[in-house]
Amino acid sequence: MSPRRAYVIGAGLSGLAAAVRLAEAGFEVEVSEAAAQAGGRCRSYADAQLGLTIDNGNHLVLSGNQAVQRYLALIGASDRLVGPDHARFVFADVRTGERWTIRPNEGPLPWWVLSPSRRVPGSSAGDYLGLAGLLYPGEGLRVNQAIAAKGVVWERLMAPFLLAALNTDPETGSAALAAAVVRETLAKGGRAYRPRIAHPTLAAAFVDPAAAFIASHGGRLRLGRRLRRLTFEQGKVATLAFSDQDEPAVADGPVVLALPPWVAQELVPDLSAPDEFRAIVNGHFKLAPPPGLEPMVGLIGGTVEWIFAFPDRISVTVSGADRLLDDDRQALAERMWAEVAKIHGLPAELPPWQVLKERRATFAATPEQARKRPPARTAWRNLLLAGDWTDTGLPATIEGALRSGFKAAELALAQDSV
Ligand SMILES: Cc1cc2nc3c(=O)[nH]c(=O)nc-3n(C[C@H](O)[C@H](O)[C@H](O)COP(=O)(O)OP(=O)(O)OC[C@H]3O[C@@H](n4cnc5c(N)ncnc54)[C@H](O)[C@@H]3O)c2cc1C
Repeated sequence: MSPRRAYVIGAGLSGLAAAVRLAEAGFEVEVSEAAAQAGGRCRSYADAQLGLTIDNGNHLVLSGNQAVQRYLALIGASDRLVGPDHARFVFADVRTGERWTIRPNEGPLPWWVLSPSRRVPGSSAGDYLGLAGLLYPGEGLRVNQAIAAKGVVWERLMAPFLLAALNTDPETGSAALAAAVVRETLAKGGRAYRPRIAHPTLAAAFVDPAAAFIASHGGRLRLGRRLRRLTFEQGKVATLAFSDQDEPAVADGPVVLALPPWVAQELVPDLSAPDEFRAIVNGHFKLAPPPGLEPMVGLIGGTVEWIFAFPDRISVTVSGADRLLDDDRQALAERMWAEVAKIHGLPAELPPWQVLKERRATFAATPEQARKRPPARTAWRNLLLAGDWTDTGLPATIEGALRSGFKAAELALAQDSV
């Protein structure tokens, strides 16, 4: 019997997750990707300006991310994430130079908030009680309707954490999406939120091993191949028209669309999808960090929000960064570096730099936009949706993207067995 076919469109992490799961289950998977490389918004590339291979943006995942663990185990890349043995977060205030370190305990009973040396300076244990409102907030609320978004614990811990998780102003972000992250990480104790970074690159952890897995299971990853049109007949996708073929391909197996929302909306009639986005800006500086430099520091009070130290560079991240999109890149690099140099005591002279602005980095994680997210199942029997913007219950993150891909694959497998 010839193997069953499956079509995955889009080789971002959601498409790769769907593809590896379907390949594992015995499908002959064909992945079509419009770009010249796989990875989508989570990719690595050789940067000519720096002469280094860098990631498009610094990506942080947490040890409690279940889909990340499952995906990396499946593709044989569990050893490609690095990070500390215990949750520990160093913060600094760029205005005053003040530093503090949050050191949660491992288990779910958060006794660390009782210890002044482990909690946010200037806070009391009682300040953390109010955060309970973020565990199971009411439907459709903003974060600042679920908890009091003010005070030192908010400013020095929760606002930076939620801004990174939602990529949206944390006060007006969706409380339900924030709650989903909090329940799966902070509420489970430090062992569920040890920070983890791909090593040595995003591609080496999340993309290349997936491509190898698909190939070794008889599948194909076809790059530079854009899906232009779908036709529908009798409640199913009938054909797929690609940019590199005159004749449309017959859809003789499940089709997983793992595309950006605005592309999916062009291809699928009447598809509801988020249509407001938020930017992320990253600065990369070619300077090998001196020994002992903190691998990750959260900043408040300036432009930069997180500083990451890699063996060959220092990189910074700004989330919800729409205000920076029109800024001159050189001026932005200088501003960012001034903050890094101040906090880390490094020379003020600007090292070789690169600034990457991802305009539509994620959908805006507001209650209004969350309502527009569609489920994985569509009105067409053989058509499934994946992507961090589909209704995963999580904000747009690697964890959400991978989960959406696995979900689409499971639905395809369930249909196949009927
Ligand atoms: C700068 C930046 C920093 C981030 N930081 C973090 C972080 O720290 N932690 C975290 O968890 N998440 C982070 N994210 C979010 C994370 O990268 C995304 O959630 C995830 O990569 C989304 O994957 P996806 O498959 O849903 O979408 P995408 O990666 O957008 O994949 C869609 C794919 O479809 C392709 N495509 C488009 N049109 C067509 C077509 N017609 N035919 C075929 N292919 C097509 C695209 O080229 C793309 O490869 C960050 C994102 C950015 C941009």
